Amino acid sequence: MRWKLGRAFGIGIYVHWTFALIVGYVLFSSLSAPGQSPVDRAIHSLTFVCAAFGCVVLHELGHALTARHYGIATRDITLYPIGGVARLERMSERPAEEFWIAVAGPAVNVVIAGILLLVSWFSLNAFGSSSLSMAQLIQGNLLIELLVANIWLVLFNLLPAFPMDGGRVLRSLLAHFLGRLRATEIAAQLGVFFAILFALLGFGLVRDWGSNPLLILIGIFTFRAGQQELAFVRYQERQRQAGPLDVLPANADVVDVVPVESDEHFSGPVWDGKARAWVIWRNGRPVRVHWID
Ligand SMILES: [Zn+2]
Repeated sequence: MRWKLGRAFGIGIYVHWTFALIVGYVLFSSLSAPGQSPVDRAIHSLTFVCAAFGCVVLHELGHALTARHYGIATRDITLYPIGGVARLERMSERPAEEFWIAVAGPAVNVVIAGILLLVSWFSLNAFGSSSLSMAQLIQGNLLIELLVANIWLVLFNLLPAFPMDGGRVLRSLLAHFLGRLRATEIAAQLGVFFAILFALLGFGLVRDWGSNPLLILIGIFTFRAGQQELAFVRYQERQRQAGPLDVLPANADVVDVVPVESDEHFSGPVWDGKARAWVIWRNGRPVRVHWID
């Protein structure tokens, strides 16, 4: 379930219901935090969360509009507690295009951070900072908090954890030399390493870091999405060698199978006779391949 927030550049922007958990968590921790009145604290935190996720939407629009430049449409953008997802109709198979589509998201946050830096610098000079300590400024100033959030967005997204942005950048660079399949295999292996690292950090298994459930979810997402995309590239590669999709064998014990080209939201298994594999589709996208050898 998700709610529509609006449209930008003709792309629907949605927020997933689990986002309410973040709002609930922020309100809860505002009430239990010492100092300051809880209402002030809650307003401050909610404003920050909304502004930060506004920056995430702009990040996703960076991907979507660059993809559009290469003739790839975006179905929608959805905000989850772990970040935003722009559902591109497909990922470009040209390494240079994938590189620019991936880089465009973090580049938006670099621009936002630059603007926030300028604005904070001017407002500091205008109002003076002599009466405030640096720590008070960083804790209480929404602009500086947002600046830090945008720097985090850039650094975190550029980690080479395929299929996060940095992982796509890595894959596109490797694909120049190694071909798309080998590049995806290497990027996905590194993605698994980061997924495990995120989960370990999330569970608090590294001393002094505390636990962070969102990081565990990011680890699971990175692992699953990376493995799915690897399976898809392997499947594409196999198909390229074996030719186009074959019709289902007459004795196939499967109902509701339609040619994949006829419905862009198709879900279900399709028998690929030449590749001798079952391809499991979900919402118009192959997600798993079962080789029958
Ligand atoms: Zn991104």
